[in-house]
Amino acid sequence: MALAAVPAPVLRPSPAAAEPAYSFAAGPARLPDAVLARAGEALFARGGDGAAAIERPFTGDAFRATLAHARERLAALLALPANYRILFMAGGAMQHFSLLPMNLLGASRRAAYADSGYWSRRAIDEGWKQAAVSVVATPPAGAPAAPDVSPGSGWDIPADAAYCHLTPNETADGVAWAALPDTGAVPLVADVTSCFLAAPLDVSRFGLLYAGAQKNIGPAGLSVVVVRDDLLERARPELPAPFSYAVQAAQDSCVTTPPTAAIQLAALVFDWIAERGGLPAMAAANAAKAARLYGFIDASGGFYTAPVRRDCRSPVNVRFHLADSVQDAVFAAEAERRGLFHLRGHPRVGGLRASLYNAMPMTGVDALVDFMADFMRRRG
Ligand SMILES: *Cc1c(COP(=O)(O)O)cnc(C)c1O
Repeated sequence: MALAAVPAPVLRPSPAAAEPAYSFAAGPARLPDAVLARAGEALFARGGDGAAAIERPFTGDAFRATLAHARERLAALLALPANYRILFMAGGAMQHFSLLPMNLLGASRRAAYADSGYWSRRAIDEGWKQAAVSVVATPPAGAPAAPDVSPGSGWDIPADAAYCHLTPNETADGVAWAALPDTGAVPLVADVTSCFLAAPLDVSRFGLLYAGAQKNIGPAGLSVVVVRDDLLERARPELPAPFSYAVQAAQDSCVTTPPTAAIQLAALVFDWIAERGGLPAMAAANAAKAARLYGFIDASGGFYTAPVRRDCRSPVNVRFHLADSVQDAVFAAEAERRGLFHLRGHPRVGGLRASLYNAMPMTGVDALVDFMADFMRRRG
């Protein structure tokens, strides 16, 4: 039986052809323009060996050189202390919700988790499948915000907890932690999927960091793990080899064929970040974009509302809403006609959300603010 042809996607062009369109999607998210411009040649052009980069064997010298370059660039961007390893693994962030207890529980059955919103709760739900979970912090009452970390705020981390997990940037809720808790001898583990490489980060505060690539690193299908050496010793020998952080570390992330194309694209993104001045430059640009958008919202006289408590507003996932949800839908639909896409909030949270990761230029924020001002003039 003949298969019907797959219909071509219908892409609505931005009406004013000269105006660039922007995707504010939370993930997979926009990649830097310069990376897209280089990717065709770097990944898809055949070389003298008859292979394009995405066709080369993962055991060959060419891919291994790219892998080493990606690892070294990332280590330099993070100012990575010598006792940490970088792993490039297949799969998304959620896979680490399970790999984490598998690899880190060791002899303990207990793990501590902070609840700060949607994604930390998803991590907790998966944690329960393997560990006795102690939820050691919850969001405060009132406006959406991260748990209190001030001394005496009541964090009671069991001494036998194998790790304490938190989500420093809650992508769906638009909530960022302003400070990290002191977890004493219990290693701090963080899902940094939506804030990795958006600002400098003191890796030495953490036992382990993990991120799905598709927010701020590269395309979907890849995840990055940064792990302190001593935690690798906890891996039980019966773990499946591709799921073992220790085996992956020992075999240079090549236990199984790694997502080679995604790693090569990530390497281009790391180069781009380095060329632009590294993580301090990313942080400065992200802060300027966030200030522009939140500043406009706050000055709109209540037409637009940013519901997150000010000190916990995410610089990269800006959540806002209008007076009612019907208006939010009208706003999102009209924005698309102006070339501004994927502004609907996370389905569980509602409202609107503009994700402004590293690759979003200020011109994208300017275009959004111009549209918001125009929408307010017409509807306010
Ligand atoms: C997007 C996201 C996830 C889910 O990532 P997948 O790669 O789809 O599993 C998990 N945590 C955070 C903080 C996220 O932003």
